[in-house]
Amino acid sequence: DAFITAIEKANPALNAYVLQTPEHARVQAKDSDKRIAAGSARPLEGLPIGNKDLFCTRGIRTTACSNILGEFHPTYESTVGQNLWDAGAVMLGKLNNDEFAMGSSNETSAFGNVVSPWRRKGKDGKLSTDKLVPGGSSGGSSAAVAAGLCLAATATDTGGSIRQPAALTGTVGIKPTYGRCSRWGIVAFASSLDQAGPIGKTVRDAAIMLKAMASHDLKDTTSVDAPVPDYEAVLGKGVKGLRVGIPREYRVEGMSPEIQKLWDDGIAWLKSAGATIHDISLPHTKYALPAYYIVAPAECSSNLARYDGVRYGLRVNGDNLIDTYENTRHQGFGKEVRRRILIGTYVLSAGYYDAYYLKAQKVRTLIKRDFDEAWNKVDVVLTPTTPSPAFAFGEKTGDPLAMYLEDIFTVTVNMAGLPGMSVPGGLSSEGTPLGLQLIGKPFDEETLFRTAQVIE
Ligand code: GLN
Repeated sequence: DAFITAIEKANPALNAYVLQTPEHARVQAKDSDKRIAAGSARPLEGLPIGNKDLFCTRGIRTTACSNILGEFHPTYESTVGQNLWDAGAVMLGKLNNDEFAMGSSNETSAFGNVVSPWRRKGKDGKLSTDKLVPGGSSGGSSAAVAAGLCLAATATDTGGSIRQPAALTGTVGIKPTYGRCSRWGIVAFASSLDQAGPIGKTVRDAAIMLKAMASHDLKDTTSVDAPVPDYEAVLGKGVKGLRVGIPREYRVEGMSPEIQKLWDDGIAWLKSAGATIHDISLPHTKYALPAYYIVAPAECSSNLARYDGVRYGLRVNGDNLIDTYENTRHQGFGKEVRRRILIGTYVLSAGYYDAYYLKAQKVRTLIKRDFDEAWNKVDVVLTPTTPSPAFAFGEKTGDPLAMYLEDIFTVTVNMAGLPGMSVPGGLSSEGTPLGLQLIGKPFDEETLFRTAQVIE
């Protein structure tokens, strides 16, 4: 009840939830009360969480924050969601995100912008009235957790959408290894890159959440058939003797002094906790962003072909079938989604496929090999999560390339399928949060959790 009241009060200003489900929450909570009274509580019994609107919820509107899904009410629950409810969690509602998870600022949602609960501090020490972005695409998840409108939230990450919003809101986010969580029932953006993960207030919360979310699932053939470790059990183990890699290619030109300092602080903290620091090279880093912005739109154009005005949500009739397709897709998709579909169909078209898509796939293999090489020398990699602190609305919407640069430190992780995590590392000169990113070996989320706890 306290969370439901808090959401009612704060959500009109923040717009983190696109759908509140208080009745649903109360039914789940009553069941939790009974189980607690009977002494048979499950691991997440009664814990109120928010669910990104990319996760299908049975009988409850799911839109991916796009007009094209309209009033789509799925007949099934995502596997990750089902795992959480089976563990006793309570769903407070559906959280805002960039349309189809395409964006870095939650400014492309059909439901409007999410406002970060953070404000910049001016030179006079006063809080500015500028509204800041909560990051994206999981901006509803990060803002809700930061504002205390849920204990933790589900999120997805295709090129940084868990880690970047976590960094900009002072929360903890982990994108596990590709295959750790089932993608079944999650609205697809770029299937070879998409992964679910949690955003929480602390490293421990994120560990508890991921343990519940992850599973092998016969409904997703890319989910891995391997036991899910008890991530909470590794907390407190420290980093003595751990080899931490610092990739020199991430010291990009024009890196701001405060991001540089954040990174140096992270290095110093891990060193003083007993880790050893190693200079490493990931030579193909500079090709990751351009390759990502070929692979992700290509897969998106294919995945989004299913929205034809017949099978899901919105339908805008025309004189014939082709007109109906065109009208529906024109009215249903926002500008950024249309841009991605156009890029995607272009790079996949005959005559351009070899020059763009195939080339990008080759680059992807080289990026993965860079990391394979690095794991011979180090156990974990440390970088900043974002190139800058939270920015104001509209600051980057006019220039898609400036927005895409937000992903410069995060996309390599998705391209290589690795686990990546963002943990709060300090505050910018404006008093807003900054995040440090940890990158791990495949299926070694445990090392990320214990290292993150030292930084936290
Ligand atoms: N910002 C990136 C994009 O727009 C990543 C989004 C995501 O991870 N879902 O593609």
